[in-house]
Amino acid sequence: MDPQPPNQPSKRVRRQAPKICCDDSSLKKRGKRGGAQRFRCTSCKRWQTIETPKAPSNKDFYIRKRPINAEAGIVKRVIVTPDKHFPIADLPAIRCVKKIIERSDAETYVDLGDTLEHSSISHWERASKPKVPLDLVIEDLDNEAFESNQDWDYLDESLDKANIKERYITLGNHDNWLDKFLVQHPHLNKLYNFEKLYRMKQRGYEMVPFGEFLKIGKLHYYHGHHVGGVNHSRAHLLRFGVSVIYGHHHSVSHYEVGFANGVNSATSLGCLKMLGHDANQWLNNLKHSWGHACASVDYYDDGNYSINIHRIIEGKVVFNGDLINGNA
Ligand SMILES: [Zn+2]
Ligand SMILES: [Zn+2]
Repeated sequence: MDPQPPNQPSKRVRRQAPKICCDDSSLKKRGKRGGAQRFRCTSCKRWQTIETPKAPSNKDFYIRKRPINAEAGIVKRVIVTPDKHFPIADLPAIRCVKKIIERSDAETYVDLGDTLEHSSISHWERASKPKVPLDLVIEDLDNEAFESNQDWDYLDESLDKANIKERYITLGNHDNWLDKFLVQHPHLNKLYNFEKLYRMKQRGYEMVPFGEFLKIGKLHYYHGHHVGGVNHSRAHLLRFGVSVIYGHHHSVSHYEVGFANGVNSATSLGCLKMLGHDANQWLNNLKHSWGHACASVDYYDDGNYSINIHRIIEGKVVFNGDLINGNA
C-alpha cells in the first residue's frame, strides 16, 4: 500500500503587493493593463505593476480524440475473430465483423483458426461415404478452396481498408486436416500445402502452428482444442494457469480466477459459422449454445489487457454505441 502523502499547503498563495516604497497600506490597486495588476502608492505617488499568470482557457481542458498510441496508456488494440469455417461462414455476422474492423482503430488482427471447413477432406465425412477416388477428392478440395479463398478475400478487404498490417492465424483442427491429408498423399504437398493454397504470404498472415500459443502482453491466443468439458473456460484456466482466449467450442463464455500472481481470465469467443441444421447436419438437430462474436482487446503499457466481446445476435451488433446491421 502506498504511504499517505504529507499534508500539502494550499497552492493558492495570496498575492502580495510589491514593497518598493512606504508600506503596504499605502499601495492601492489601480486597475489592470493587459494581464498585469497596477498599483499606486498614495504617499510617494509611484506606480508598480505585477504580471498575473494567464488563466487556463477552455481549450486546455478539451480532450481530443486520439489514435490508440495516446497518453491514455492504451498501447495496442487487437481484433480477434473465431471459427469462420469458410465457405460456410455466416454472411451477416461476417459483415458485422468487417464493419467492426474498419471502425476499430486497431493495429493487430488475430484469427483463432478453423478458418476453413475442409469438408472435402474431412475424415468424418469420408468415413460415412463410399470410397471416393483421389482425383474426385482433389476436385472437391479445389472447388472448396476457391470458394473459401473468395470469402477470406472479402474479410481481408476490411483489414486492408483499416491498414491493419500485423496479422496472425493460430491454426485450428479443421485447418490441420489439410496437413493430415497431405501426410497420406505427400506428392500433393508442393501444390496443396496450407501456406500456398491459402496465399498466406500474399495475405500477410503469420501462421502460429496448430496447438501453440501466440502471446501478446499477458494474454495467450490459441485455437481452443486442448481442453474441453461443459465449463471449458474454467477448465482452460485451471489447466493452463495463464490468461487465454480461444475459439473451437463455438459458445461464448468468460471465466476469471485469482491466482497468487493476480487475476487470470479465460475467454471462449464463440464462432462465425452458420448455426442452422443444413450447415451442421452432424449434430442431428441437437440444440446447441453456439453464438457469433468477435472481440477487441486493449492493452496497457504493463501488458495488462481488457477484452471487449462484441456479441453478434441475428446478424446485428452494437459497436461504440452504433448499431451495425449485417443483414442489410
Ligand atoms: Zn476447432
Ligand atoms: Zn470450429
